[in-house]
Amino acid sequence: MDYGPAPESDAEVRAWLATHKSSFGHFIGGKFVPGAKHFDSTEPATGKFLARVAEGSNKDIDAAVSAARRAQGPWEKLGGHGRARHLYALARMLQRHARLFAVLESLDNGKPIRETRDLDVPLAVRHFYHHAGWAQLQDSELAAYKAIGVVGQIIPWNFPLLMLAWKVAPALAAGNTVVLKPAEFTPLTALLFAELAHKAGLPPGVLNVVTGEGATGAALVEHAGVDKIAFTGSTEVGRLIRKATAGTGKSLTLELGGKSPFIVFDDADLDGAVEGVVDAIWFNQGQVCCAGSRLLVQEGVATEFIKRLKRRMGKLRVGHPLDKSIDMGAIIDPIQLKRIGMLVDKGVAEGAEKFQPEITLPATGCFFPPTLLTNVETSSTVATEEIFGPVLVSMTFRTPDEAVMLANNSRYGLSASVWSETIGLALDIAPKLQCGVVWVNATNLFDAAVGFGGYRESGFGREGGREGIYEYLKLKAWAARKPKAVQRIAIEAEVKPNFDEPSVDRTAKLFIGGKQARPDGNYSRTILSPSGKIVGEVGEGNRKDIRNAVAAARAAEGWSKATAHNRAQILYYMAENLSARADEFASRIKAMTGVSKAKSEVKASILRLFSYGAWADKYDGAVHSPPLRGVALAMNEPLGVVGMICPDEAPLLGFISLVAPLIAMGNRAVVVPSERHPLAATDFYQVLETSDVPAGVINIVTGGRDTLLKTLAEHDDVDGLWVFGSKENSASAEKLSTGNLKRTLVDHGLATDWFDSASSEGPVLLRHAVQVKNIWIPYGE
Ligand code: NDP
Repeated sequence: MDYGPAPESDAEVRAWLATHKSSFGHFIGGKFVPGAKHFDSTEPATGKFLARVAEGSNKDIDAAVSAARRAQGPWEKLGGHGRARHLYALARMLQRHARLFAVLESLDNGKPIRETRDLDVPLAVRHFYHHAGWAQLQDSELAAYKAIGVVGQIIPWNFPLLMLAWKVAPALAAGNTVVLKPAEFTPLTALLFAELAHKAGLPPGVLNVVTGEGATGAALVEHAGVDKIAFTGSTEVGRLIRKATAGTGKSLTLELGGKSPFIVFDDADLDGAVEGVVDAIWFNQGQVCCAGSRLLVQEGVATEFIKRLKRRMGKLRVGHPLDKSIDMGAIIDPIQLKRIGMLVDKGVAEGAEKFQPEITLPATGCFFPPTLLTNVETSSTVATEEIFGPVLVSMTFRTPDEAVMLANNSRYGLSASVWSETIGLALDIAPKLQCGVVWVNATNLFDAAVGFGGYRESGFGREGGREGIYEYLKLKAWAARKPKAVQRIAIEAEVKPNFDEPSVDRTAKLFIGGKQARPDGNYSRTILSPSGKIVGEVGEGNRKDIRNAVAAARAAEGWSKATAHNRAQILYYMAENLSARADEFASRIKAMTGVSKAKSEVKASILRLFSYGAWADKYDGAVHSPPLRGVALAMNEPLGVVGMICPDEAPLLGFISLVAPLIAMGNRAVVVPSERHPLAATDFYQVLETSDVPAGVINIVTGGRDTLLKTLAEHDDVDGLWVFGSKENSASAEKLSTGNLKRTLVDHGLATDWFDSASSEGPVLLRHAVQVKNIWIPYGE
């Protein structure tokens, strides 16, 4: 017995293409508009011409952004319920045309119809339903937030319609309007979607599609009329986008590459895990950002597992994507095919053993066989680089700790899959993995209610669920912020001769690793009052001091594992000790700043420490309910080590308002206090010392903001960066932190009201102090 061909008809798609004479312009302001230049979109499975598509110019992007801007106000004013009705209509529209979308996607992308029909399209539908719900609930559940404005979205070719849905549904639900740039290889489902969406009543300008290449995407990124960029694609382009948007005030989410581990313990259901591997790396020909491309098998079962895996590989069927009984379709393009082949050859040259089953590939078109590379070194190219093809590399481990170490040995951190019949073991491993999604005894599960996104160089931001909708909203209180007032710089006043007994000299040092430390350069800086009176001296920190502080913060890893109860106790204790010295702090603030509300600043700081003591064990994650027998645990995890530039305004309250949420959530901080008024922070050393704060959890380096910020931003052991200084500080934080793609929170030189809890306390900051990891746990037999 063998499979016969089971072709799906492409007649409907050909008829739709014919109505457009297989030639498309951009979709702007509710209609197709002609483009000046064009390129061809071909079928990867046959290399045949599919359609002629416009190549977007700066002018086209400009027209689309203008259309989106005109539509944004009325779209937002329509209100949550009005938008919910539209999103619901889009979901229904997709359902009505499900087969048309599935076939078109298979033709344009080369992926099997089995996948487009059963996964891409139903999941896209689900995203519109789910986000119709967020629109409906926006006024009640997200009342403190409003739409960002015009959103530019750039998507890749591996899941063209699904990526559209992941991006467009939340953006529209929240009241934004969209300019979407689909991938050059796969623009057709986006054009079909735009056309049918408008037939379904979507107002003109709410969704605009400009097709084109990388340059079209770059023009969208750089357009001054865009308020946010949401990007999915390679880490390389993600970095370019981070740099291009730095300092512009545009908000940004990046869903980037991965090299995800697939971990098989010796007590796993081996046959189940073999099927898991098939879904992890041969789904969509391995062209999946979260593909389980690094197989880690426990030594005792490795031989048997690889034997069963090879046998299963021999049964995979590679063929035309419209054949309903094939497992793998075509690779997107000859360029990608060549790149995959080159990387496999490199792997073999570096010592790997290659296995490819003896299966027949179609004689023409872009096809690559399922491939397994064994005997792979952890440092080899194929173990570290994203191949983005049907290539699995395999390694072994002995102990759970070694599995975690190998799994985390990557610059990426998108997803992981853990296979063990011992639930305790699997759930012990999941939180230790540095990535945004973990599947327990499963792989490649997705749902609109469950956030998806990466750690480290896999990008930042989440798509889906409550965690995802925030990415398309801005806090009303922050939207109303004004630029900071320029503060007058004091000039040192003339000192009158004084022959009284001088007070005992107290020059504040730095605070690193729980100890007061002399600055490396042995320089200090004088701190003046507004009238120019000397109020003290502090150490002048330099690059080396920052590096020492980061090392101390790294070593304080225990804090991230401490219980929330423990962290709460310490925050309360800090409040208690600050309270005991409230008058001293108030007079110090008055001396430094001359402000009259010094006492209320200390009072507010004590209150804030209490608030975060309260929040430490209450800013919980969530249990999502995706449509399967199982749950997804959305866990709020700390970012790790976070660098911070504190504001000059409210030198104690600003410092406390930023440090407290970070440490409440288990981060360790390297803090540069207010450059002008650092003495409130240096006085705080004694509060830290008497409050049982473990060494290295809070490190304080005084000195010049610009120099210290540069070192923090460029340091690859710093995971996050919060900057509340000048506009220029924000720009350099965003620009210089692209090396390891730090999560940044910056104020763009706008003044935050630190006394207003709606602007500076609680979830508004806690949300930025964590990254959400979703752990999927299917259950049942
Ligand atoms: P890219 O990151 O180059 O492309 C993603 C999207 O960005 C496309 O729409 C692309 O347009 C656009 N783009 C390209 N350059 C720019 C730019 N400078 N500014 C703005 N937008 C730009 O990925 P590729 O599709 O070229 O694939 C290259 C590699 O990236 C793959 O081999 C794979 O390793 C990885 N990749 C990862 C994905 C993921 O989800 N993690 C998805 C896709 C690819 P255009 O299509 O015209 O080039």
